[in-house]
This record gives sequence, C-alpha cells and structure tokens, in this order.
Amino acid sequence: MVIVGGGIAGLAVAKTLIEGGLNAEITVVTQNPHYFAGPSRPLLLTNEQSLDRIVRGYEEVAQKVKVAVGTVYAVNPEERKVKYVGGYTSHGGAGELSYDYLVLAPGVVLDGSGIAGYAENRGNVANVYDPGRISVLNNRVWSAERGTVVVYAPKVPYRCAPAPTETALLIDAVLRYRGVRDKFKIVHIDANDKTQPPVIADVVSQIYAKAGIELVTNQEIVEIGKNYVVTKSGERYQYDILALLEPNRAPKFVEEAGLGKTWIEVRSPQDLRHPKFDDVLAAGDAAGLPLPKNQEIAYESALFAANKILEMEGLTYRASVQYAFLGWAYVGNQEGRLESYAVMFGLDFTTQPPKPQKDPQPKTDYTKAKDRWEQSYLRQLFGY
Ligand SMILES: Cc1cc2nc3c(=O)[nH]c(=O)nc-3n(C[C@H](O)[C@H](O)[C@H](O)COP(=O)(O)OP(=O)(O)OC[C@H]3O[C@@H](n4cnc5c(N)ncnc54)[C@H](O)[C@@H]3O)c2cc1C
Repeated sequence: MVIVGGGIAGLAVAKTLIEGGLNAEITVVTQNPHYFAGPSRPLLLTNEQSLDRIVRGYEEVAQKVKVAVGTVYAVNPEERKVKYVGGYTSHGGAGELSYDYLVLAPGVVLDGSGIAGYAENRGNVANVYDPGRISVLNNRVWSAERGTVVVYAPKVPYRCAPAPTETALLIDAVLRYRGVRDKFKIVHIDANDKTQPPVIADVVSQIYAKAGIELVTNQEIVEIGKNYVVTKSGERYQYDILALLEPNRAPKFVEEAGLGKTWIEVRSPQDLRHPKFDDVLAAGDAAGLPLPKNQEIAYESALFAANKILEMEGLTYRASVQYAFLGWAYVGNQEGRLESYAVMFGLDFTTQPPKPQKDPQPKTDYTKAKDRWEQSYLRQLFGY
C-alpha cells in the first residue's frame, strides 16, 4: 500500500487504515522530511505565529508506517509502480515502489506558467503559501517605506479560499502597526466575481472599505512585469510589493499518468477511486472534488478514501465522516495592534443546497480557536 503525500490527507488515510485493521505494509512517500501546516501560515506575516509551532517531523509517524522521503515524479497505474527521487539518502534517492493500492494525496502545485513574464519576474512574486516566500513577503512588508501592494487571488478552485483576503488584511495590520499605512495603497485583484469564500464576501467588503483596501473583482492577471501586472481586460496595475497566488493544480505526474488533467479524477466525493482503476484513489486538495480545497475537506475525503479500501478488503470498520466544515478567516487588526481578529464561517454539504453559516463579528477568540484546531490536527496526525 503506497500513499503519495505525507500531509493532512495522506496521513489521515494511513491512520484510518491502521485503525480499521488493514493488514498491509503502508509506505508514505513524501517530498520533504518535514511538514509545514497551512492554516496559520498567514500569521507569520504579523509575527503572531512562529515556524516551530507549525512544522512537524515524520519520526513519530515512522513508528507506525514506513516513511520514504522523496518526490514522486511518475506513476504507472497499469504496472502498479511509483517512481520517486530525492530525500535523505546519500545515493541520490531514486526509488521505485510497487503497490496493491495507491492513494494519491500530494496537495497542490502553484503554477504560474500561464502568466506572461512569470518566469522572468518570479523573484517579485511572494505570498503566504511557502515558508521561504512568506519570509520574503514578511521582510518586504516590514521594511518598505511607501508604495503599492497588489494582492492577487486566481480563479477557484485554489487551496484555502480566504488566504488572499487574509494576506491583504494582515499586510494592512502590519503597516498600521508600523505607522506607515497612509504611505501605502493596497489593491486586492481577484479573478473571481467575489472574494472567496463567497459566504463572507459581504463581511470582507465592509472591512476592506473601512481599511481603505481597493477591491477589483473579475480580473484575471495574465502578465507580470517588473513593477506592474496586466489583467485579461487590459487593465494595468503598478506594484511595489506583489503578493500573488498562482493558479493551483495537481502535480504534473498526475496528467502524465493519464489520471486527470488539472486534478485527479475520482468517481464521486464519497468514492474516491479513479474512474479507470479500482486500486488508485485520490484524497485531499489534489482530488477533483466539487468542494472547497481546505484542511477539513481534505481530511474528510481521506476518511472516505480509507473507508473504500477497507470495504474492498472486506473489513467492517468505517470512520464516521460527512462533508461539512468550519473555518476562520483572519481579518487583521485596524487598531494598530498585532493581534489579529478572525471571522468564523462554515458550509455543511450534507444538505442540498449546502447550508452556509457565519458570524460576521470579527473576534480574537476565533483566531485562538483556529490555532487550537490546527494544533489538534497536527497532534493527531504527527503524534505530537
Ligand atoms: C496559506 C494557507 C492557508 C490555509 N488556511 C486554511 C484554513 O484556514 N483552513 C483550512 O481548513 N485549510 C487551510 N489551508 C489548506 C490546508 O492546509 C490544505 O487544504 C490541506 O493541507 C490539504 O491537505 P493535503 O493532504 O491535500 O495537502 P498537504 O497537507 O499540502 O499535503 C501534501 C503533501 O504531499 C507532499 N507532496 C507534494 N508533492 C509530492 C510529490 N510529488 N511526491 C511526494 N510528496 C509530495 C507535500 O510535501 C505534502 O507533505 C491553508 C493552506 C495554506 C497554504
């Protein structure tokens, strides 16, 4: 049994299969020797979060399953083979694994290749998605004296709907704290018709109005220049700091293996087997689900995937699961303190249409609730 990706979905699959009594050797292949949790990454901008609290190693996980560190670059579903390269080893780390079941949970790749000028100006692009780039963005926001900050959200689906909004509002908070907010213009360009998630778009637009953040919707960035971006309709925006999230997709090996174009094809949100292969399943953000890409949905999809394997193996255990989530979007702090508020929202997919909920009142309690929630996932999956 091979699981590609040692993140939320990959480890939740492994854990559920063990709980369900699957008698198999489970190998998790994962790109990095550590995991970097997503949800509170934006707070690294305001220095309210620190890396040590959200990085985890795989050493406790490796007490229960085999962990191979490497980047999977090819899957052959006909021959049931997975190829990977890299990792800790001194021999170059090239490896090949055979499987009875394969679960693909590699998360997303940020793909700017469709944007003209992206490769040349890649050094100007920072965001809250990768530890190095967050550190770059943090440094730029904390040291710039004046200018225009452009924040960009690509078309959905992308990982973590509110992250671009969080980015804009946390940058706003840092600039206020530094006492230089009036020397900056902040523009949020969104390729969607509203800021995401739509359920709190009205709350965000009110907070933006108060914070003086300009919002431009329905504008897809198609070109990046040295100090400007251009949108599909030809609009040009100058930037000094660019916090741009690239369009998201599954890693390229998925398409090369014929398992899906942008996302991994699955039969349904409850049956995560590939339409052509009973022994290839997907879970997490890389799965082509008609659902938001966030940690709760990733986890829930993993339980559905594990339940299907247990069913195919004739085992009776089933993890209890349904699609529903609660989330908390950071909305910064306009009072000049580095103490972020958050807005709570949720969607329940067990009813049709899905039932939204929200509390439009920003609270620091929600920021704390998000931290507790994130830490509990890490403890559960990484063992500490
Ligand atoms: C900035 C940010 C903010 C977020 N905020 C929230 C939030 O507020 N609420 C919420 O619910 N969710 C949030 N998320 C989303 C949440 O983190 C993801 O939805 C969740 O982690 C998805 O789980 P996953 O297992 O699919 O992917 P991941 O947890 O990313 O795990 C994927 C794993 O696969 C590995 N991998 C990737 N490619 C390969 C390869 N080729 N070979 C081997 N291994 C590979 C990666 O290294 C990683 O370990 C946020 C994410 C980010 C980045």
